[in-house]
Amino acid sequence: MYKLTTNVDLTAYSTFGVPARAACVVAVNTAEDIEAARVGERFTDQQPLILGAGSNTLFVGDYTGWILHPAVSGISIVEENDDFIWLDAGAGVNWHNLVEYSVSQDWSGIENLALIPGNVGAAPVQNIGAYGMELAQVFAGLKAFDLRQNRIVEFDSSQAEFGYRRSYFKNHPELVILNVVLKLSKKFFPKIQYRGLKEILGDRELTPRTVMEAVIALRRSKLPDTAELGSGGSFFKNPILGKTEIEQLLSEYPQAVVYRNTDGSGKVAAAWLIEQCGWKGVRRGNCGVYDGHALVLVNYGGATGRQIWQLAQDIIHSVEDKLALTLEPEVRIAGGD
Ligand SMILES: Cc1cc2nc3c(=O)[nH]c(=O)nc-3n(C[C@H](O)[C@H](O)[C@H](O)COP(=O)(O)OP(=O)(O)OC[C@H]3O[C@@H](n4cnc5c(N)ncnc54)[C@H](O)[C@@H]3O)c2cc1C
Repeated sequence: MYKLTTNVDLTAYSTFGVPARAACVVAVNTAEDIEAARVGERFTDQQPLILGAGSNTLFVGDYTGWILHPAVSGISIVEENDDFIWLDAGAGVNWHNLVEYSVSQDWSGIENLALIPGNVGAAPVQNIGAYGMELAQVFAGLKAFDLRQNRIVEFDSSQAEFGYRRSYFKNHPELVILNVVLKLSKKFFPKIQYRGLKEILGDRELTPRTVMEAVIALRRSKLPDTAELGSGGSFFKNPILGKTEIEQLLSEYPQAVVYRNTDGSGKVAAAWLIEQCGWKGVRRGNCGVYDGHALVLVNYGGATGRQIWQLAQDIIHSVEDKLALTLEPEVRIAGGD
């Protein structure tokens, strides 16, 4: 059975905690629920806005269409052998709960992705990543309801087109992800190269749990808790640059923070670009740039989505003016139509 709520206050539906209203939100557990809601509520011709936990979504105004919230629950083992375990998780499962469950079983593969807010269904959409790990490395497949074809479709990792904060699914909003399958390892190969992780771990024994705890400590020291300060995590993506562009940037700014690939191309840290333009810690009315991390735009309480989006655009323009580089939002902008 689907659950329909009308004239919804969206403040609690996004981690920015900004006010907006939606005509209706429909929570579903199965493909049949989606079908029933589309026919029963006459939504068949309208593309819904798919919303998980709203931790990568900024509402810049009211949303006049329908919002579809996949609430599929449950974690189960699909298959296992001596080395690996294939785990199926419903789209509505809280991502961090899945990480904790995996760590509690001593399985490895997602411990560095601890404490990323949001639901399992959104994880493949932007190929969540942190501290040297990405979802792509453990993704085995997913099941989705295709709103155009009106049927369930399945994808494996060869069809996911994962890249930095992108995937096939990101460009196909007609796909409502219902279940995701991850291939986790029973053997532990710790990934602790990321700056700061080794220091926190010190001489502790390396296990999925100790690595997860170190990641949690690091995240808590850097990122605001969205229960206290509204945000969407990193607001912008790190711009991807070719070898020549990186060399040009480094010749002008030898201190630029860049992450290079073996062929010399790479990414420049968006946080560094924003800091260069003097935005770190700047507060404008009820929103601002977090003083602990220049990539995080925060709602100090009472900000609107439009104010945060205006601040983001001013940051984009100043980075363009000073460094001739274009920042792209990582956060999805919604509403205001
Ligand atoms: C404090 C903070 C820290 C963060 N740190 C990180 C980080 O380290 N690394 C990282 O990668 N991200 C990070 N994020 C971003 C965010 O946590 C991820 O993007 C997360 O996957 C979003 O999940 P959600 O359910 O909240 O997605 P939502 O914001 O609800 O949706 C995000 C996108 O996924 C789509 N979507 C959601 N569910 C489904 C579904 N079932 N089917 C199809 N499409 C769907 C939506 O349509 C939308 O395009 C952070 C966010 C915050 C607030």
